[in-house]
Amino acid sequence: MTVTEHTIQTGTVRTGIADDARGAVIPPLYLTTNFRFEEIGKEPEFDYTRSNNPTRRTLTDLIAGLEGGTSATATSSGMSAVTLVLQLLKPGDLVVMAHDCYGGTLRLLTALASKGHFDLVCGDLTRADSLASLLEREPRLIWAETPSNPLLRLTDLKALVAGAREIDAITVVDNTLLSPARQRPLDFGIDIALHSTTKFINGHSDVIGGAVATRSAELGEELDWWANALGITQSPFDCYLALRGARTLFARMNQHEDNGRAIAGALRGHPAVTAVHYPGLPDDPGHELALEQQSGFGSMVSFELAGGREALDDFTGGLRHFTLAESLGGVESLISHPATMSHGAVEARERSAAGIEDGLLRISAGIEATEDLTRDIERALALVTPGVTGPPAGANSDQGRSLTAAAT
Ligand code: PLP
Repeated sequence: MTVTEHTIQTGTVRTGIADDARGAVIPPLYLTTNFRFEEIGKEPEFDYTRSNNPTRRTLTDLIAGLEGGTSATATSSGMSAVTLVLQLLKPGDLVVMAHDCYGGTLRLLTALASKGHFDLVCGDLTRADSLASLLEREPRLIWAETPSNPLLRLTDLKALVAGAREIDAITVVDNTLLSPARQRPLDFGIDIALHSTTKFINGHSDVIGGAVATRSAELGEELDWWANALGITQSPFDCYLALRGARTLFARMNQHEDNGRAIAGALRGHPAVTAVHYPGLPDDPGHELALEQQSGFGSMVSFELAGGREALDDFTGGLRHFTLAESLGGVESLISHPATMSHGAVEARERSAAGIEDGLLRISAGIEATEDLTRDIERALALVTPGVTGPPAGANSDQGRSLTAAAT
C-alpha cells in the first residue's frame, strides 16, 4: 500500500473531512433547495436539491465507494430504492424474485405485478435446481436478497451472475442485512446493490433512507434520472445524518457481529429452541457459501421457539436488553416476530411456503456488551423451558435493567 492509498474503513471514517472551502472539518449540511446560476444558460454543478445536492453527493460517493460501484443514488427510504429499480421494467417484462425476501418488497412487487406493470414469479433462489428452472423463463430482472430477511438464507452470487449473463438479465441484490462492510455484491458481477440505509448504514434507528449502487455508469445515470423524475431522492438533512452514522459502520459491525455470534451460540442446542438460523454456525446450510462471498457473518439471527404463542410472549416479555420492535441494524438490540411484523403483509400460506413460521423470532444484535445480551437470552430461555431456572441476574444485568428502564 502506498502512502496515498488507504482501506475502505479509513475512507469511510474520513469521507469529506476538511474538504470544505471554509475549512470546516465535518462537511456542512446544505439545506438549500436551490443554487445560484452565474448567468442564463450556464448551469451550475448543483441547481435544485431534488436533482442534486452537495450533502447527498457526499453520501452517494461514500456508498458507491463502499459497494465498489461507479455511482450511487440515495432515496427517501429503502422502499423508494426498490421503487426506483422497478422503473427499469416495462409491461410484459418478467421479474424473478426470491420468495423469502423482506415482506414489504414482496408486497410492492406483487401489487404492481397485479396491475400489469410487469410479470412476477417468486421462487427459491438459494437452490441451484430451482434457480436454473426459474432462469429458463428468461426474466428481464432477477431480485435476490442475501442473506434473506428473516431466515438468513444465502444465494450464490457467482451462480446467479453466471446464469443471468446467459440470458442478459439485470441482477439486483438487496444487501441490507450485511451492509457493504461484510458483502459487496457488485464485486461478483451483480448489476445493482440495494440498501435500506435505515438499517446498518445509518445504524442509529433515526433515519429512513435507501440507496442503490451500480456497477455500470450508464445504469447509474438511468437510475439517477428516474430518482429525480419521481422525486424520491433523500432529503439533505437525512443524508447528513446517514453520513454521520455511516462513518462508524465498520467499528459498529465488529461489535454487532461479536454479539450476533454469541447470541447464536447461546440459542443453539437449547431445549426450548427448535432451530437457529445464523450462517456463522458451522452447521448452518449457508456457512460454506458465507465464507466464500461474505467477509463476516453479520449480526442478524433468527430462531424458532417451541411452545407456541405463550412461549413467544414469555420469552420476548422476559428480555431486558432487547426491544420488541420492527427494523434492524441499529446500535440497540431488537427482537421481532416476522409473521406479525415485517412479514405481516404476506399471506400466511406464502409465508409458510417460504419457511417463515409463526414460532420464528428475529434478533438484530446491537452493540451492547456481549455478556449482558447472552445472559439476557439465557434468562429468557429459562422462562420458557419447563423445569429450568435461569442464571441469577449479575451486577451487569441489574445495571443494564435500570438503564433500560430509565430510557423508556
Ligand atoms: N430491504 C430490506 C431487507 C428490509 O429489511 C427493509 C425494511 O425493513 C427494506 C428493504 C425497506 O426499507 P425501508 O424501511 O427503509 O423503506
